[in-house]
Amino acid sequence: MRFEYLEPESIGEALMMLGQYQGRSKILAGGTDLMLQMRYKTIKPEYVIDITRIPGLDYVTFDDNRGLKIGALTTIRALETSVELQEKLPIIVQAAGQLGSVAIRNVATVGGNVCNALPSAETSQVLVALSAQVRMIGPGGERRLPLEDFFTDAGKTVLQPDELLLEILVPRLAPHTSGIYIKHSPRGPIDLAIVNITVLMTMEPDQNICRDAKIVLGTVAPTPLRAIKAENLLKGRKIDGVLIDEAAQVASDEAHPRRGSIRGSFEYKKEMVKVLTARALRDVTTSKGRNTGMME
Ligand SMILES: Cc1cc2nc3c(=O)[nH]c(=O)nc-3n(C[C@H](O)[C@H](O)[C@H](O)COP(=O)(O)OP(=O)(O)OC[C@H]3O[C@@H](n4cnc5c(N)ncnc54)[C@H](O)[C@@H]3O)c2cc1C
Repeated sequence: MRFEYLEPESIGEALMMLGQYQGRSKILAGGTDLMLQMRYKTIKPEYVIDITRIPGLDYVTFDDNRGLKIGALTTIRALETSVELQEKLPIIVQAAGQLGSVAIRNVATVGGNVCNALPSAETSQVLVALSAQVRMIGPGGERRLPLEDFFTDAGKTVLQPDELLLEILVPRLAPHTSGIYIKHSPRGPIDLAIVNITVLMTMEPDQNICRDAKIVLGTVAPTPLRAIKAENLLKGRKIDGVLIDEAAQVASDEAHPRRGSIRGSFEYKKEMVKVLTARALRDVTTSKGRNTGMME
């Protein structure tokens, strides 16, 4: 396949190129998704715009008031090895460490993972659970959106062909919040998840009562799916085994996996949502699983 390779050195230059070659160009970050799509000819861009020379898009910073900011060009490996993230938001570290192999994580970026918009994407799911927002820039200036509203379908987002994702913002967590990420992938991290789940629970201190809950399911809908009915069932209630099993069943009812997927039947995925939701809720409400991630 023939294409022209472009290397902008500023955001302005990249936007100019995106505007000029609108609909005929694709942005390249780590290339771990894009190169495969080009090799298998699912996309055929005439121009490939490599944004990795643009300075200032590769960072992880914390602000006590505003929370966490992650630049779009931050690699998955940088998330996985960030000492600050490990201390403050270890669930991101755990999820990052379960994406592909170290070689992939060394080049794959968080911006690419989010913009590629696979329903199984590791970082997308955890970031939706963390109520992240995305900051984008286009010819009309900047705009911000909750990440949950960024995805429109499998592989599709609201990002326009002349726009660039700049940054992901994660607000500070409420006190007494713990979380867990579980990837169910029998072949290990190198394979995409069959089902993955993120659970965040905010508990009343010294009581086993749930103040707030977030349950995000992956690979059982075209986009990361909030199990809102299951979340609502838990809020304000004392957590025990019966309630956990009930919530797990409700989450499974909310999942609507694609029939005929090679990665698992409709019935199998529904059953795995039930099993993993119950496991995640049990682990996150005991000291065992607080702020960790698990690998299936
Ligand atoms: C062997 C292998 C294993 C993998 N395993 C996993 C896995 O377990 N979990 C998982 O989630 N993924 C997995 N992936 C997929 C991939 O590695 C990730 O999605 C990765 O994070 C993509 O990032 P990238 O920087 O390589 O994106 P690229 O391939 O460079 O780009 C991906 C898409 O996003 C667009 N894009 C990138 N950056 C921007 C930006 N800043 N603004 C606007 N658009 C942008 C590109 O135009 C393209 O459409 C795997 C891939 C391989 C090859």
